[in-house]
Amino acid sequence: MNRRDFLKSALTFAALAPLAKLQAKSGADGDKSSDIVSGPGITRRHYKNTSMTLPLLGFGCMRLPRLSPDKPEIDFTTAAKMVDMAMKAGCNYFDTAYMYHSGLSERFLGEALKKYSRDSYYLTDKMPVWFAKSASDLEKIFNEQLKRCQTDYFDFYMLHSLDENHWSKAQKFHAYEFLEKMKSRGKIRKLGFSFHDKPEVLQKIISGGSWDFAQIQLNYLDWDLYRSREQYEILTRAGIPVIVMEPLRGGALATLSPEAEAILKKTDPQASCAAWALRYVGSLPNVLCILSGMTLPEHVEDNLRTFTPFKPLTDNERKVLNEALAAYRKCLAIPCTACRYCMPCPVGVEIPKIFGIYNQYKVSDNRWMFNKNYYAIDEDSRASACVDCGACLKKCPQKLDIPNLMKQIAGEFK
Ligand code: SF4
Ligand code: SF4
Repeated sequence: MNRRDFLKSALTFAALAPLAKLQAKSGADGDKSSDIVSGPGITRRHYKNTSMTLPLLGFGCMRLPRLSPDKPEIDFTTAAKMVDMAMKAGCNYFDTAYMYHSGLSERFLGEALKKYSRDSYYLTDKMPVWFAKSASDLEKIFNEQLKRCQTDYFDFYMLHSLDENHWSKAQKFHAYEFLEKMKSRGKIRKLGFSFHDKPEVLQKIISGGSWDFAQIQLNYLDWDLYRSREQYEILTRAGIPVIVMEPLRGGALATLSPEAEAILKKTDPQASCAAWALRYVGSLPNVLCILSGMTLPEHVEDNLRTFTPFKPLTDNERKVLNEALAAYRKCLAIPCTACRYCMPCPVGVEIPKIFGIYNQYKVSDNRWMFNKNYYAIDEDSRASACVDCGACLKKCPQKLDIPNLMKQIAGEFK
């Protein structure tokens, strides 16, 4: 199916109507962002209208195999083998960051990629503004990253994990101006940012610079739950290509509930749950590259299968995925639909977000993931901040006893 047919067929998909609208809109814009490139190898997409193409699957280097599960040291032999598998298949986009594996991820890539010519792969790194105590620290960090990665330049470089606070620190230290300077000196080819906040903040950041790309959290559960759809729409309207992180929601969408998984298996017994989730994200035309943090050679193999070549979801597959999503949501502990009618809470409690994270925990039993997501929420917006005012009670169409649920969650994770 070519892109035009795909966009047309997407319009008939009622269950994810907002997604269909976006696809139609992007087509009407005249193929400005990313076109699917067909060929024998991994599917690639053009960066805007240029000859630069990126593999639709990118190699995230945050969860590389470790020598020991609770230590950051990387199992170099296995990880290097995975890099070689990816390179051989044309998956030549590698994403790292200053603190991944306590700094060892950058060093690992420097070593693992040095046997390849520098123009045969894309290397992406990020500026953690929260590590900087002054504006001059930015240059120190940047130079250290170049050194660790054994390179003279980064193909893609981001202001890391921007939210309202990090953006204001970036502004205070003129981080954008510094990175623009690095770009003009050829040390950065494309400048962007990764993002973790509300769409309103995203809009503000977009106006604060001339961005080549942005990286957001996007998957079929977060599409509504964490307002990924709105983020994607804002970026698409602004003509900014999207790189996706967390397409499997930290691995949660790779292991669904048994009911949900059975629905997917009935339609395609061979396809993994991860493949369905990746195909959902890749079906969005303004997605330039999807990062998958691969930990085992089997993950690389499975992902490469999904993207060689990439097949957008058909109308029927979208319906099936929607059924699986409904089944998955049913077994969630709190039947919150993320409609957000209860928002805003007068004291700032992130009601649907908390319920979403809690549900995920109940399905996956992954306490590490719960901690990571829950404690990323400001203390003032966690369940314990609820003052039992009852303002949300009348607004919830699901008749959820929100204040009591907040008490329960706050008690469980005291
Ligand atoms: S009851 Fe709690 S969650 Fe609901 S609006 Fe009041 S403070 Fe917010
Ligand atoms: S109104 Fe109810 S169902 Fe909707 S997001 Fe709030 S808690 Fe969830």
